[in-house]
Amino acid sequence: MDRIDCVVVGAGVVGLSVARKLAQAGLDVIVLEDAGDIGTGTSSRNSEVIHAGIYYPAGSLMAQLCVSGKKMLYGYCDDHGVPYRRCGKLIVATAEGEDSKLGSIKAHAEANGVDDLQALTEADARALEPALKCTGALLSPSTGIIDSHAYMLALRGDIENAGGALAFHAPLMRGKAVRDGFEIEVGGGAPMTIGCRLLVNSAGLSAPAIARAIDGVPADRIPTSYYAKGNYFSCSARAPFSRLIYPVPESGGLGVHLTIDMGGQAKFGPDVEWLDRLDYTVDPARAEKFYPAIRRYWPSLPDGALSPSYAGIRPKIVPPAIARQDFMIQGPRDHGVAGLINLFGIESPGLTSSLAIAEHVAALADIPR
Ligand SMILES: Cc1cc2nc3c(=O)[nH]c(=O)nc-3n(C[C@H](O)[C@H](O)[C@H](O)COP(=O)(O)OP(=O)(O)OC[C@H]3O[C@@H](n4cnc5c(N)ncnc54)[C@H](O)[C@@H]3O)c2cc1C
Repeated sequence: MDRIDCVVVGAGVVGLSVARKLAQAGLDVIVLEDAGDIGTGTSSRNSEVIHAGIYYPAGSLMAQLCVSGKKMLYGYCDDHGVPYRRCGKLIVATAEGEDSKLGSIKAHAEANGVDDLQALTEADARALEPALKCTGALLSPSTGIIDSHAYMLALRGDIENAGGALAFHAPLMRGKAVRDGFEIEVGGGAPMTIGCRLLVNSAGLSAPAIARAIDGVPADRIPTSYYAKGNYFSCSARAPFSRLIYPVPESGGLGVHLTIDMGGQAKFGPDVEWLDRLDYTVDPARAEKFYPAIRRYWPSLPDGALSPSYAGIRPKIVPPAIARQDFMIQGPRDHGVAGLINLFGIESPGLTSSLAIAEHVAALADIPR
């Protein structure tokens, strides 16, 4: 049986960030990935927004890791030539009662360490974005967009430069905790058994299933998976905005917002659709709800401009009745299994937070900074 210091399960943006950190700390690392390439899961089905860290509950892991991760990510992009644009975003009030929500969003953001939000009157907002309809807005200058695939490629390069390896079509099938670590059975075209001292479960939507497949992990420490799909529609008309436009948030998501990708293509979404199985198809009929939601802030959205684009699925670990969850990153103190780190519920802002999540995992694994 081959032995290695560390196995990371999942080559999404989070698994790659963690593997990079551990490989650069001098560990022998292999990333096991079920699919044939990096970043084919939720990491390629998101909005590619670098979030500021505005909404998350004060003191939550999401708030802390988003705010620190954002800074690290902008720095990483500068150092590695990863394309990004610090385009800013407007959070817009469009109905009576929403202006007061903007005030509480700003106060909440400040408690999270996001102290650059600017309150705008309707006239200020329209001076920035003339096609916008609103009664007031907040400008978040530190929000941006990133080419997430270029970012993941750069992370992969760092892993390989530090001596780490990636194995594709190499699903973790099962494993067990043994005296000095884990024995892992890997399936796919070249099945094998690997021994490792540190096991990082960063399998995204499958993380709870992976934890259940490791003998020795207490069942009561493994959360139930729930799936909340976010559907996107692309816009054939040229959207007359240069910043991201978000309505005030709704339960379970951030509302039907407008984001722009690095190619300048506008898209709307994600909405929130709870599922009991994984299904990425976008039902064209959902556009009916998008049109009125978007026209609250962009009244001149032309009829017929929206077409179904893609969907991502949020790896929820709380049921629909509970609107908010936090990242659940468990180390040995949480589940009692030496050498195991589980990453559960890494939904948005997981992309923004990825480098900070890697630092957090390294600390749980007692890897010196
Ligand atoms: C709709 C939506 C919009 C989002 N928008 C944003 C945003 O704008 N900004 C932001 O910061 N975050 C955003 N996020 C969150 C972000 O996309 C995720 O937090 C991040 O991509 C999670 O990365 P991951 O590596 O944990 O998971 P994934 O990318 O899902 O990677 C997990 C990997 O594990 C692999 N795997 C599964 N089972 C096994 C196995 N048995 N063996 C080996 N490999 C396995 C999978 O194939 C997959 O590649 C969004 C998420 C969603 C759903």
